[in-house]
Amino acid sequence: MKQALISTIILISLAQTTTSCQVSRDFTFPNGAKAAICLTYDDGLPSHIHNVAPALAKYGLKGTFFVTMNSTSVQDEMEKWRGLAIEGHELANHSVYHPCRKSLPGMDWVRDYYDLDHYTVAQVLAEIRVANGYLQALDGKKNRTYAYPCAHLFAGGVSFKDSIAQVATAARGVHDKLVPPDEIDLNNVASWSPTEVSGKELIAYVQSVIDKKTLGTFCFHGVGGDYLSISNQAHEELLEWLAEHSSEVWVTTFQEVTDYVREKRGK
Ligand SMILES: [Zn+2]
Repeated sequence: MKQALISTIILISLAQTTTSCQVSRDFTFPNGAKAAICLTYDDGLPSHIHNVAPALAKYGLKGTFFVTMNSTSVQDEMEKWRGLAIEGHELANHSVYHPCRKSLPGMDWVRDYYDLDHYTVAQVLAEIRVANGYLQALDGKKNRTYAYPCAHLFAGGVSFKDSIAQVATAARGVHDKLVPPDEIDLNNVASWSPTEVSGKELIAYVQSVIDKKTLGTFCFHGVGGDYLSISNQAHEELLEWLAEHSSEVWVTTFQEVTDYVREKRGK
């Protein structure tokens, strides 16, 4: 009896493994691309308007801009930010005030009144809803993706990762768990946040994503200026490489690729 039970458990486990492998094998990106890459830019910085947008236009690529509503660049040059949406880029949600956990190492710069440790989950969601409304006024869209400020997922000690679906179709984290497309957690999608790196290093990351046949996301801040930056040259070398390898790598917005992954998985 005991042996029969063990055999049954082994058979069920094998069946589950087989199903998972089949899903992995069946997952394909559009037009036979081996992998997908998202170029995302955080915090609504002036260098996005003045350096990133012209570079993306030069190579015919689309990016995702995770903006905070208190970005002075968005407030001062709103028509230019609206122009990004008109050109086909994604304006995405990065909260109103960029709240982060002040208690964590290196986070002294967080203002006391934007300390995520003193927020509640309801407060975080309310703030994200306000930002969704602001962005809808800019580009007319209702569906929105989110990027966790500082990649912090806890408000007042409680995780809001599982609540994020109430206010966003997908959310980007900052961690290096590159998994097959059918295993991606759409509420905490992996990304790499490089600073002061060469174009070669950026391209090497894309190669590692191609090797894993999955989605890779860059989380950039300043480009050729601002902070946590990469140089214009490194950025442009990456874009040029991506444009030259467009049959191999699908470069698209975070909204488009996460919608695609969800649809393809039938969830
Ligand atoms: Zn940020």
